[in-house]
Amino acid sequence: MSSSLRFKMVEEAFDRKAVAVATPSERPEKYYGELVFDSRKMFEYLPKDAYEALQTAITDKTPISRQLADIVAEGMRRWAIDNGARHYSHWFAPLTGGTAEKHDAFIVHDGKGGVVEEFSGKLLVQQEPDASSFPNGGIRNTFEARGYSAWDISSPAFILDQTLCIPTIFISYTGESLDYKTPLLRAINSVDRAATAVARYFDPEVKHVISYLGWEQEYFLVDESLYSARPDLVMTGRTLMGHESAKNQQLEDHYFGAIPSRVEAFMLDLEIQCHRLGIPVKTRHNEVAPNQFECAPIYEETNLANDHNLLLMSVMAETARRHNFRVLLHEKPFKGINGSGKHNNWSLGTDRGAMLFAPGRTPMDNLQFITFIANVMAAVHRHNGLIKASIMSATNSHRLGANEAPPAIISIFTGSQLADILAKIASSDTTDLSDLKKKAEYSLGLSQIPELTLDNTDRNRTSPFAFTGNRFEFRAVGSSANCASAMIVLNAAVAEQLSDFHSKVEARLAAGEKLTDAILSEVRILIKQSEDIHFDGNGYSEEWQQEALRRGLDCETSAPRMFDAYLAPSSVEMFTKTGVLSKVELEARNEVKWEIYTKKIQIEARVLGDLALNHIVPVATRYQSTLVENLVKLRDLLGERGSQIGAGDLEAIEKISGHIDVIRKTVHEMVEARKRANGIADEREKAIAYHDNVVPAMETIRYHIDKLELLVDNEMWPLPKYRELLFIR
Ligand code: ADP
Ligand code: MG
Repeated sequence: MSSSLRFKMVEEAFDRKAVAVATPSERPEKYYGELVFDSRKMFEYLPKDAYEALQTAITDKTPISRQLADIVAEGMRRWAIDNGARHYSHWFAPLTGGTAEKHDAFIVHDGKGGVVEEFSGKLLVQQEPDASSFPNGGIRNTFEARGYSAWDISSPAFILDQTLCIPTIFISYTGESLDYKTPLLRAINSVDRAATAVARYFDPEVKHVISYLGWEQEYFLVDESLYSARPDLVMTGRTLMGHESAKNQQLEDHYFGAIPSRVEAFMLDLEIQCHRLGIPVKTRHNEVAPNQFECAPIYEETNLANDHNLLLMSVMAETARRHNFRVLLHEKPFKGINGSGKHNNWSLGTDRGAMLFAPGRTPMDNLQFITFIANVMAAVHRHNGLIKASIMSATNSHRLGANEAPPAIISIFTGSQLADILAKIASSDTTDLSDLKKKAEYSLGLSQIPELTLDNTDRNRTSPFAFTGNRFEFRAVGSSANCASAMIVLNAAVAEQLSDFHSKVEARLAAGEKLTDAILSEVRILIKQSEDIHFDGNGYSEEWQQEALRRGLDCETSAPRMFDAYLAPSSVEMFTKTGVLSKVELEARNEVKWEIYTKKIQIEARVLGDLALNHIVPVATRYQSTLVENLVKLRDLLGERGSQIGAGDLEAIEKISGHIDVIRKTVHEMVEARKRANGIADEREKAIAYHDNVVPAMETIRYHIDKLELLVDNEMWPLPKYRELLFIR
């Protein structure tokens, strides 16, 4: 692109006006969920018996019969057609990230040369997408290209772009999961079972424990013409070069600041789309960095919340285009500027309405609260490396440990109040316990469990995993990630821990201990055991890195090596015991993780090499020769005096050639490193080679290009600069 084109694009972007949004005349309560086949629509479109049978299956998590499936499919089809749908699609989340759909029209031959629209229970419940091109880590070789997608009745069907989308799991012919939803559902069930057993100590009527998720989605918006003038953004989702602009987030004037009108129009449009799809988005605001924003819904049951986040990410991309924006979900689109995360607010609650991470009114409620908190801390401590691996990716690795986001070490922030309570419980001795026993007998007053009124004013933004009053906020999750990855590990790890806890308490009860004693003793052990995961200090500090190492926390920083945590004996044991993932599945999924890591870096390296040699170096050379020309002319005209005047030019010429030389040399080395890495057959080793040898070369190249950006005539610079990309008007 020539620089005059760059200026044209900038002008176009800056002149753009907000796109008018067709606001519905009704209030949200009228159109909320209108595109969802929810229980209201089921009631309307299904015979009464079928409606009731389906509701029971959903609540009890039991499979439905083929006969029922046929009736439901017919009702669903009628509803979908009444609402303008022409196609249907199984909708699932493959391991590549994002969502996949394969659309089929409802039409079938009517036997008279025409067609009718039909949809059978068979097509609703199960399909065999020819999915050999989805990654499967070798589970399903391409000869056996069959994979099944099967309806997840706990997540309602919806209409997107005139297509009836049916949320499904995606599994191989031999039954191994090829997606995120399958293990997520297993993890949710496993934490339900384990937590229910423990929650019954406090309320024998509890039948289920529900896992809740409230995500906060951060993102950047960039004007579409500037976006399309940056091949790196188009192809990799982030800028591979670009010098920081003089002003970015130093003034912190963007956070919670006024939202520009173009953006506001986009947000309103997005909100309306989301509400029609039953996604309860509620909060929207500017984020720390320029052009960075956030939206968050009201929390929901984890499986549904996760489907809603996946759906939001596609709706966002589409809505942004309508407003001449591109949405960037990459964790680190711009160097030197805050990256984007997706905080996962996570909690457990009983079907009786108790929130298990919230203190309650009675000492017994509070013992329950402390019990669940201590178990979460123990689980996170036990599996801190694995939990970190669950959020790691080629893209999120730019964000973690980059002195602005949580470090690449998992620790838990509790706040001083909870820390005091935990310390008090841990240090209370046996005398206290006998005391407690006496008191417990008549009033259930537990001296170790004080009245709790927690405020979460001392929230620590540097912690990757923070207790925030009634939930944990897992902040290390990346903005482009499928939250399921983190939720699978977290729920499964906590399930394992709770079930161990339950066994130990049972053993004490069998030995004749009183319930509160048994629980308190085990809680005390857990608090002491998992002390090392608790850290309320500054997670960005150098000292914390040293301290974490001393505490034996996982401090690995290389993404491909972090994935090893999935195959650690403790992880395999945890996943198998909880029934969430088998060893074969874990191995296959890691292959996919390494493969995706390699491919992402490979693409970035190619784009960077191309931009460096074909866009930047030629422009820098051209500018350099204008300096040379100037210098020669000065010397011709003025001799020695000309050389003196031209000294600055000479210095610039030398600097420019210095940078060009390093860029050329490093691009060559990077290409060689890539060739060597590509020759490695083992996916893990290949990913490590990319990490160790290709990534550092990319950083060197970028450094020198960014230096050139400061030296070369602004008029000539071919790519939109940060200051142009980052300030929407
Ligand atoms: P903040 O930015 O202060 O962290 P937000 O309001 O942006 O808070 O987002 C908080 C998210 O946490 C929302 O999605 C909210 O619904 C969710 N949330 C609140 N309480 C719970 C809970 N008990 N369990 C899970 N998520 C919760
Ligand atoms: Mg928020």
